[in-house]
Amino acid sequence: MDFLKYAVELVAVLLLALGIKGLSKVRSARSANQLAAVAMGLAVLGLLINSFGTSGISAAAWIWIIIGTAVGGVCGAITAQRVPMTSMPETVALFNGCGGMSSLLVALAAAFYPKQLDAFGLVAVVSIAISVFVGAITFTGSIVAMAKLQGWLSTPAWMQSKARHAVNIALAVASLVAAIKLIADGSGTQALTLLVVASGLLGVGVTLPIGGADMPVVISLLNSYSGVAAAAAGFVVGSQLLIVAGAMVGAAGLILTQVMCNGMNRSLVSVLFGGALGASASSGGGGGEYTNITSCSVEECALTLEAAERVVIVPGYGLAVAQAQHTLREVTRSLEAAGIQVDYAIHPVAGRMPGHMNVLLAEADVPYEQLKEMDVINPEFPATDVVLVLGANDVVNPQAKNDPDSPLYGMPVLDVQQARTVFVVKRGMSAGYSGIKNDLFELGNTSMVFGDAKKVLGDLLGELKELGVSKK
Ligand code: NAP
Repeated sequence: MDFLKYAVELVAVLLLALGIKGLSKVRSARSANQLAAVAMGLAVLGLLINSFGTSGISAAAWIWIIIGTAVGGVCGAITAQRVPMTSMPETVALFNGCGGMSSLLVALAAAFYPKQLDAFGLVAVVSIAISVFVGAITFTGSIVAMAKLQGWLSTPAWMQSKARHAVNIALAVASLVAAIKLIADGSGTQALTLLVVASGLLGVGVTLPIGGADMPVVISLLNSYSGVAAAAAGFVVGSQLLIVAGAMVGAAGLILTQVMCNGMNRSLVSVLFGGALGASASSGGGGGEYTNITSCSVEECALTLEAAERVVIVPGYGLAVAQAQHTLREVTRSLEAAGIQVDYAIHPVAGRMPGHMNVLLAEADVPYEQLKEMDVINPEFPATDVVLVLGANDVVNPQAKNDPDSPLYGMPVLDVQQARTVFVVKRGMSAGYSGIKNDLFELGNTSMVFGDAKKVLGDLLGELKELGVSKK
């Protein structure tokens, strides 16, 4: 039985590693996700095989396993079908929370059943303490993050006071004391209870003050925590698979957190301890009214596009909100059919999650080769005839390079202003996520095309057809 269990776990680990590798490319991401799902299924199978070999599973336990699998499977399938692309961060937060809660429950179950805590070795007791601590923080922190992103919860004013640091430190100390007592005594319902409550409250206390703009970074960090909690739970139940999978998720989450901080020019410390900076950014440097805006009709935009040889599309959060990716693809198909070179400029934090735009465009069958990363496309803007900015704002704001007082200063941006002509498609003059004015909109070579991205692109397609662009 042991051999079979290890064989199944080994195959699952390999599939998981291949799945994570495949997720780094848009083209292979879908099948990679399926591989990782199969790996998880095998992991459960390995655990069940192991249980047969040891104490066996009672009939009553089988019923709970089947009910749990059915309820979890149905909830996962419905969520995956229904969630819109714009709600991905909330969904990821919810899934992280579930991961943290699972590790917490596994550690608690191991602590209380079937033997007493003092019957465990030191490694297992330390792992239980870590799993409970990190699992509880991940669970409560992720639920708060999800509620904030959904708009169900906002940061209370008292949470912005400096006193919150003292409260959080007190909770961290209480958690540490409880963990040390648990490890030293090897027993202790009281110590465990204190650890669960203090670390759960710490998760709320750390996440609640963080502003909405920084929430995706926190979610990525919590994703890393959920991996650490799972790895610790792996030591508790003696599952090599859980240890490996948890370590992979922990490392991947940490790397993603670093990528996001770099993309937004924020340090992790300022995200975690700075409070709701995103919300106050609108009052920071660079704010103000627009005085010199040029707008144009869809027809004028179509005429300029018709005469272009090279066009670069800049997708942003507004494109995702409008669900305009398929209409965009029709527009670019007709431009390409007329011999116009089309590329897509992808900023690392365009949208609300890294990779948001890649997934959105892949959904509309945009060829992967046409997606150009910021460092590749930036030197090419001076040789570009037309840039079409679709529902993007902060990621094309020149203030990030020109204005040291701007809250965006230092954030890497797309240098679209260097192109011959820039069209910006958005509904009005509202600010982007950072809440600040965008100097691009007042430049001489920029024209605003006001309207919902999907509607404007639909009209543009009609104009291009009338001009016979695709038949050139
Ligand atoms: P953005 O700065 O949030 O701007 C989006 C723009 O889209 C808005 O100005 C809005 O203007 C427009 N818009 C909204 N709905 C629209 C619709 N239906 N049709 C057309 N336009 C629409 O977006 P971004 O340029 O993609 O920048 C992303 C921002 O999010 C950055 O500040 C980034 O730092 C931040 N962020 C990203 C991540 C990440 O990991 N990706 C994480 C955290 C924060 P109107 O209302 O006037 O239409």
